[in-house]
Amino acid sequence: VPTIGVLALQGDVREHARALEAAGARTLTVRRPEELERVDGLVLPGGESTTMWRLARSFELLGPLRKRIEAGMPAYGSCAGMIMLADRIRDGAAGQETVGGIDMTVRRNAFGRQVDSFEAAVPLTGMGDTPYHAVFIRAPWVESVGDAVEILGRAESGPNAGRIVAVRQGRLMATSFHPELTGDFRVHHYFADLVRRATEEE
Ligand code: GLN
Repeated sequence: VPTIGVLALQGDVREHARALEAAGARTLTVRRPEELERVDGLVLPGGESTTMWRLARSFELLGPLRKRIEAGMPAYGSCAGMIMLADRIRDGAAGQETVGGIDMTVRRNAFGRQVDSFEAAVPLTGMGDTPYHAVFIRAPWVESVGDAVEILGRAESGPNAGRIVAVRQGRLMATSFHPELTGDFRVHHYFADLVRRATEEE
């Protein structure tokens, strides 16, 4: 059974841990570089990316996170976590840095300019035939992606139809929405499988 960490600097850590356990993973909260060393994969939760970035910097985690991701550790970021995994961001705070890893440009609070939170059906590639009931909270969207990035889901209807809200690049994945909040853990299952396969390959 792989151990999947949840970055526990800020955000909805407990909900992700519960969802991962429901998907059959063992979990560990990660606040320190030593804890990061012990996990086979990592979830970066939703919350506030500016706070997460500042805390990651003061806990001296930015460098270790980048190093492990470069070395092939699987990671999944939801909402603020998606921002953390983006190589490029728009509408970030002054000087806001990310961990990076996914060749994409993410616009922070993109949907939030029109409405703070909303729910929408999002069909997700590789996660079953039923569209995912996605919850968005001051969510980012993906404005553009590089060639290596697979688009897993787009908003289907409404004024933001067509916006990219779920992506994968190799062992890294990200969603604009919060799959830890709805009891439908297909995204966590998908990520736990990805971590399991990555562990077997090593
Ligand atoms: N707006 C938040 C940010 O910029 C993300 C919101 C969320 O994670 N629910 O980090």
